[in-house]
Amino acid sequence: MKAARIHKPEEMLRIEEIEKPKLEKGTAIVKVRAAGVCATELDFLEGIFPFGPEPLVLGHEIAGVIDEIDPEGAGFRKGDRVVVYNVMNCGKCFYCRNGMENTCPTRKGQIGFTHNGGFEEYVQAPVASLVALPQEVSFEEGAVLSCSGMTAVHSSRVAGTTAGDTVLVNGVGGVGLMCIQVARIFGAHVIAVADSEEKAELAKRVGANETLVVSDYGKLDEEVRKLTGGRGVDVYYELVGTKGSLKAGIECLGIGGRLLIIGYQKEQNLDFYPVDLLIKEGKVVTSVAGCKRDLELALRFASEKRANPIIENRYPLERINDALQRIIDRKVKGRSVIVMD
Ligand SMILES: [Zn+2]
Ligand SMILES: [Zn+2]
Repeated sequence: MKAARIHKPEEMLRIEEIEKPKLEKGTAIVKVRAAGVCATELDFLEGIFPFGPEPLVLGHEIAGVIDEIDPEGAGFRKGDRVVVYNVMNCGKCFYCRNGMENTCPTRKGQIGFTHNGGFEEYVQAPVASLVALPQEVSFEEGAVLSCSGMTAVHSSRVAGTTAGDTVLVNGVGGVGLMCIQVARIFGAHVIAVADSEEKAELAKRVGANETLVVSDYGKLDEEVRKLTGGRGVDVYYELVGTKGSLKAGIECLGIGGRLLIIGYQKEQNLDFYPVDLLIKEGKVVTSVAGCKRDLELALRFASEKRANPIIENRYPLERINDALQRIIDRKVKGRSVIVMD
């Protein structure tokens, strides 16, 4: 079968013929129908995330149909439409037992990070990682929701976004677009901050109440105070992750506000004078991926047409490197998806 594998950093993926994965105890073989291409892929290309020694099939946003399953009948059967929860959590530790499986310290790994992912025709996944894909949600949407949708729901829960809050979503990429929609569903008033008019328009289209196009993060606080009657925001969703945007995050917070860090960049540290935060009893909170219940909720929002992932481009597997290049060139609006029949 065909697969796209990374052999070494600083090199694009190679399309090659590899063995179809074998069915093992407690696993399923999923015929991949759609796999999202995420900015996280670049962390492998840039050498930030290690892998190997074997070449690795990337792709952690996977939707497809069960081709084989063991044991048959464990809530799923051959032919079922599913998405794959990519954290291979142990299911037994304190955190797994207490609804924090995204942080499982004894995980086996992560599909598309340490184990072969979705940029191949068939992927092996633990049965425990399968999540039913509702009929109303397409494979492409399901794939994308398994990363950005889940992240948006989880981070909103972690930050305690709630009805009546005013929140700021800084960064209108795939995750930012989902955060805008989920924060609206949670009852918040949303200010989206984009780096271009085009992206600001996109933010409006998915439901942002107000938008700002930022050229200088040093002045963002001033703009945000104007929009909030001088109060500042309750949650600042940080998806950009530069020094300047993180600092702006602290400045834009109102009393009791939460700087929610989701996005980051290499060697960009958060540097602030504690008094600037404690004077308003602000908090710094962080969120990593999400739990299965977050993914299920994201899928439910999509099935109810309350959340709509923006899919910009569809590529066959052979053109995976074109999809990656578009992310490198910062041209993607929404998400690109690899589609397979
Ligand atoms: Zn992703
Ligand atoms: Zn665990």
